[in-house]
Amino acid sequence: MTFPHRHLLGIEALRPDEITTLLDLADQYVTLNRLPDKHADALVGLTQINMFFENSTRTQASFEIAGKRLGADVMNMAMQASSVKKGETLIDTALTLNAMHPDLLVVRHPHSGAVDLLAQKVNCAVLNAGDGRHEHPTQALLDALTIRRAKGRLHRLSVAICGDIAHSRVARSNILLLGKMENRLRLIGPPTLMPAGIAEFGVEVFDDMQEGLKDVDVVMMLRLQKERMDGGFIPSEREYYHRYGLDEDKLRSAKPDAIVMHPGPMNRGVEIDGTLADDINRSVIQDQVEMGVAVRMAAMDLLAQNLRLTRGAA
Ligand code: ASP
Repeated sequence: MTFPHRHLLGIEALRPDEITTLLDLADQYVTLNRLPDKHADALVGLTQINMFFENSTRTQASFEIAGKRLGADVMNMAMQASSVKKGETLIDTALTLNAMHPDLLVVRHPHSGAVDLLAQKVNCAVLNAGDGRHEHPTQALLDALTIRRAKGRLHRLSVAICGDIAHSRVARSNILLLGKMENRLRLIGPPTLMPAGIAEFGVEVFDDMQEGLKDVDVVMMLRLQKERMDGGFIPSEREYYHRYGLDEDKLRSAKPDAIVMHPGPMNRGVEIDGTLADDINRSVIQDQVEMGVAVRMAAMDLLAQNLRLTRGAA
């Protein structure tokens, strides 16, 4: 079995060859998604439930589209209107849904570790769509696919991840994935937004954009995660943009063919200049969104294959 996992909870559990397997399959789904008929049958007969306890635009939409293109019956739980509002615990909600025999559960939750906990209580495959500041595996995988297609490889690249590293699950999953694939990582941001002990992960840390961006192949910008900040981490957004916002001028330090990435949602004029974000010669932000659908199709396809095998053997 080339992808022997019951769940996709984080990048931490994946081996480099498993990441490659998933990205190779996602490449095939990119091709399918560009055809007029975008249907395949990998998930026919299966039920997919999306449970988002935190806001989402791209991730929720792309998991829904991914499931539908592969033939699953997809249900989006409206968590705002659910019994969670009446005090039901996450586990009780999960057990209730579990009794309806879903096959794939896609979960986003504001608490780190909540999705892992839930996965222990249900019989189906669970995909982590972002838990607190812990992991966002499908984001790192879609970033990896975008980089691999733009640069022709996913190793020996110099990648800068910039901004609010401390509160970002996107940064964490990307650091794990890009590290496993043997890339050079540079983290750039104010010391207040840098997690303690991060240098132990084998990354270089900078608090100056020009210095940190020097000769990098990939520039990954992050949003200021204000919802996870409980104090004044930056003097002001204006000051932050001046020092850490990506614009043409700062980008000149990177390689001339460096690509610009952002997971979204983007705050123009806070972490990135709006014109640069829209410049299709530098920015691959829309490609990231396209890759997101393909990567989620690949992830659900691989997990469903395992599900069928284990059920067949039972
Ligand atoms: N959409 C990403 C996430 O859910 C990044 C962000 O919100 O800034 O983590």
